Amino acid sequence: MLKVAKFGGSSVAGAEQFKKVKAIVEADDARRLVVVSAAGKRSSDDHKLTDLLYLCHAHLTYGVSCGDILHTIEQRFIEIRDELGLTYPIEEDLKALEGRLSKDMSVDELVSRGEYFTSRLMAEYLGFAFVDAADCIFFGFDGQVDRERTDAAIAAALEQHGRVVLPGFYGRLPTGRIKVMTRGGSDITGALAAAAVNADVYENWTDVSGILMADPRIVENPSPIASITYSELRELAFMGASVLHEESVLPVKERGIALNIRNTNRPDDPGTMIVESVEEEAGDQERFITGIAGRRNFTILTVSKRNMNQSVPLRQSLEILDRYKVPVEHITLGLDSFALVASTAALGDSLFDVIADIRKACRPDDVQIQDGIALVAAVGRKMPFRPGVSGRLFQALGNHGVNIRTIAQGADEISIIVGVENEQFETAIRVMYDGFADKMGGLTA
Ligand code: ASP
Repeated sequence: MLKVAKFGGSSVAGAEQFKKVKAIVEADDARRLVVVSAAGKRSSDDHKLTDLLYLCHAHLTYGVSCGDILHTIEQRFIEIRDELGLTYPIEEDLKALEGRLSKDMSVDELVSRGEYFTSRLMAEYLGFAFVDAADCIFFGFDGQVDRERTDAAIAAALEQHGRVVLPGFYGRLPTGRIKVMTRGGSDITGALAAAAVNADVYENWTDVSGILMADPRIVENPSPIASITYSELRELAFMGASVLHEESVLPVKERGIALNIRNTNRPDDPGTMIVESVEEEAGDQERFITGIAGRRNFTILTVSKRNMNQSVPLRQSLEILDRYKVPVEHITLGLDSFALVASTAALGDSLFDVIADIRKACRPDDVQIQDGIALVAAVGRKMPFRPGVSGRLFQALGNHGVNIRTIAQGADEISIIVGVENEQFETAIRVMYDGFADKMGGLTA
């Protein structure tokens, strides 16, 4: 059994968190490859090291001294090292870094040092070998990860050292320079590592006990999701549930590796298992919505034309939106009209040009705009097999005075999406959660 365990910023924010990580790693001999983020916030008014490093770079760009920020960063590392009785000579390394700052150091290299130093300390603390991501995460000239080289290098490093700490978030370009991934990228490093060594499980340790069925800022105490499929997760993430870095799913999904989200502060909680398909357990039938998520601020463009052959104006309208680089989230078709839903921000200033172009190309009878729309999705792999779900959903929303402006069902039927007014966003989520997440009020049989 081999597990790759990735610890996020809050899990390595200070010495106390390091101790929790050590206890977790030592509790299971299978945790032999550990991926580490840069130390994150210890409290809500604290700073992530990555943010401080970006701030340093901004100071340098404007010729302002970043000495104070570097000092804060140094103190964070020294505190961790000294409290844990480690010996890593962080002062020397930071001095060398400071010497190179304004000369030959790119922003990516500077920012990557958050992960680098945090991992050096973690490796010493765990007694694992430190392996630099610059020596085993390789990007091609296209900026994409070179999977073949990366797989081989990570597998070789684990083979050679047996137990390894690998910094997340960065790798090396063919030019030799360091490149960082997009924010939250340590999730991707963890996934790449898990895929490279063909791990049994990719554990992603964070500060929540898995994915919740709904946003806890909207629903009080939502239940955690015990297991979810990759497809459901994709739908929920697309609809606004922020869980993992989007790109971290594919490497493990394609190798059939389960992804387990766990809480460093509550290591006994089982967290959420993300898998290709879930074997339903007997007695589990009642919960058939896996999760609810949504986003505000969409615009519905309704184009009407009597007796039209819809396919032509629809195609033309989609082409127009494409030209303005506006992704279309949903399409609904009527006999003499169709409606396109797009994010209001994506339409931005192009809205009136888009409408003018649609008028010119399609000669419609009317084009209506409705903005201030929120989309809310109920996602559940079991939904396609239960009759009456949409009916009950719409009825429950109606009973609570939520006016549905548009409805869409994903082609694979694992999500039902309703468009409501922004003001009714939270009510819609609560109604769906209360009525559908748990007992299903009669729909369970
Ligand atoms: N430290 C980086 C960030 O804050 C990467 C990560 O934590 O995954 O975005």
